[in-house]
Order: sequence, then structure tokens, then C-alpha cells
Amino acid sequence: MARYGAAGGADGAEEFQRRRKAWLRHMVLFAVVIALGARLAATSAAGGLGFTLGVLIAASGPALFVFVTSLTYRCLACDRVPVALSGAGWAALLNPTACPHCGAALRRGKQPGEETD
Ligand SMILES: [Zn+2]
Repeated sequence: MARYGAAGGADGAEEFQRRRKAWLRHMVLFAVVIALGARLAATSAAGGLGFTLGVLIAASGPALFVFVTSLTYRCLACDRVPVALSGAGWAALLNPTACPHCGAALRRGKQPGEETD
């Protein structure tokens, strides 16, 4: 995993935002995959091949989610996933202002009224 010298400076924040947007697109894809798998399982006879496939597809969604998150959604300064479920919660996870581990800026030009990205 590439490390960036400027510990979460402006460039780091910009790069993190790029990653975050790519990551969010993946999340949408996984949601679709899970929904399709669940639908296949729901419309197939229990125990049948379609049901098994549907369950497997739906179950692989969260696994892919964790995999891609741990791979791409990282702080550029400390290389850790900026997750802090205690305290600020999921909103901070989806669009963190700073890394909860090292405090590096993950969002640039934080200004009032600019929170809805
Ligand atoms: Zn960090």
C-alpha cells in the first residue's frame, strides 16, 4: 500500500476524497448484488439450487464490502480504515473530516454549509 509523505495534508485529503467516491460506487454495486441474491433466494424453492445460489450471492455482498473497504478506504497518512463507530458514528465513517486514528485531514476546505457532499 502506497504511503504519502505529507501526512494527510491538502493533497492527502483530495486523494482520500477520490478514493471515498470510488468506494461509495462500490457500495452501491454491493447493495445491488445483495438485493439480487436475496430476491433470487426469495423467489426460489427453499433448498433448491436457485435458493442456494441466492443465499451465496447475498452473503458474498458483505464479504466483498469488507474486502474492498479494507483495501481502498484508507487514511493516506496512517494507512488504516478511518472507522470510529463509537462517538461520531456512521456519518463520520461515510464522510470523515479527519482520521480518527492519526488526526490527518481527510476532507479539504471544510466550511460551514459544505457538509453535504
Ligand atoms: Zn490516519
